[in-house]
Amino acid sequence: MRIALVRPDIGRLEHGPFDDRARMEPLALGVLSALTPPGDEPLLRDDRCAPLDYDEKVDLAAITVETFTARRAYEIAAEYRARGVPVVMGGIHPTLIPDEAAAHADSICVGEAEPVWAAMVEDARAGSLKPVYRGGTGVPQVVPGACPLALRACRDWPAGSGYLPLGLVQFGRGCRYRCEFCAVSASSGAGHRARDVAEAAAEAAEALRPASGFPGERRRKRSAVFFVDDNIVADRAAAKELFRALVPLKLSWVSQASLDMLEDDELMGLMAESGCLGNVIGFESVDERNVRAMGKVANRGGGLERYQVYVEKLRSFGLQTWAAFTLGHEYDTPESIRELLDFALRSTFAFAAFNVLMPYPGTLLYARLSEEGRLLYGGRWWLSPDYRFNHAAFVPRLMTPDQLTEAGLECRRLFNSFPSILSRAFGTRTNLRNLFRLGLALSYGTLFRREAFKKQGMLLGRS
Ligand code: SF4
Repeated sequence: MRIALVRPDIGRLEHGPFDDRARMEPLALGVLSALTPPGDEPLLRDDRCAPLDYDEKVDLAAITVETFTARRAYEIAAEYRARGVPVVMGGIHPTLIPDEAAAHADSICVGEAEPVWAAMVEDARAGSLKPVYRGGTGVPQVVPGACPLALRACRDWPAGSGYLPLGLVQFGRGCRYRCEFCAVSASSGAGHRARDVAEAAAEAAEALRPASGFPGERRRKRSAVFFVDDNIVADRAAAKELFRALVPLKLSWVSQASLDMLEDDELMGLMAESGCLGNVIGFESVDERNVRAMGKVANRGGGLERYQVYVEKLRSFGLQTWAAFTLGHEYDTPESIRELLDFALRSTFAFAAFNVLMPYPGTLLYARLSEEGRLLYGGRWWLSPDYRFNHAAFVPRLMTPDQLTEAGLECRRLFNSFPSILSRAFGTRTNLRNLFRLGLALSYGTLFRREAFKKQGMLLGRS
């Protein structure tokens, strides 16, 4: 069978298509490709890179769906189904809200694909797809009952894909915390599952090799590994083991991590020694009342003073931090968000994201806001033709939705101004450790600036 593995785009700009220049390789499809039974032909089709050819001869379309791509995913599914091609869907959105996804597909996978993908392909071949397959939660890239060391993601992307030069690898899934707004913990429950350390380290080394197998395409070297774990330090013992295995490989890597890692000096020392350039860290809010209300246990004792200590410690390990903030929490006002921005500027983070808090379906936050009658767009903002990217989708407690949208835009505008990018790039203990790091700070700083403004106000879906 020829199987189209499809990664949908998010949406479109007011006057034309959205061209995502910060796109990363679709690891989930690389894993699905590797999971596909021998004899079947997986075809990677990325809606962000090239127009999809619905008339291409395929026997099955498998679409990976996130909440932000759901509207576009359903459009794509309708095109394939109109041509008689059965559609299966999986990913975080069908897991969070299966009934909705099931209405647009012949079959859905709830949970992880590893245990059920081979059965879905077999059933599709026999014309007997079941409406739902339940993959549950498990260790990434391990098929129950099969050899645990056999599965590495396919990385031979079609020519001209234009992905950022990062090799994506997953060591573990899940997180031990349960923050109120977090879609990851809502979809997979609290708990962390890690791969075999030697296997993950070997795949990290492999992920930096240039892609091959596409005649005519210039082989592009990847500069760093991105461990796409939800929280790479969720299990500190496992993380230390991984970092020890990475030391002799002498590679550079980035990931996502929670602030509580700074309690453990041994962990931090190993992290730096193993080639970590920096992590995306969810600071979320500088108001401790917000931190408590959102249940962000990893930031306990948060608030400005404590955060300043954390920032100093991150610098002492030479890490280029990407600070992630969420705006619109219960105690947020336009003034407090301005204080948060001042903290981010003072801290000279290499990068920062100022995301409007989003009520993802299936989260505790969504349930609470729904009960309080505070959701906008009829509750399903991700399907609304009127919802725009980076806009508030709920009524904040102490400001209007428009004030929240505007405050987010203002943070992005000021943090990503050219004077700000330049002044932050010359941090002696982080970005100026060598030319490679300085290059990362400047090139990614300008790229993120461009993408942040381009995406602002984008519509979801293509129609
Ligand atoms: S620490 Fe991060 S990954 Fe873990 S539950 Fe909270 S938001 Fe989610």
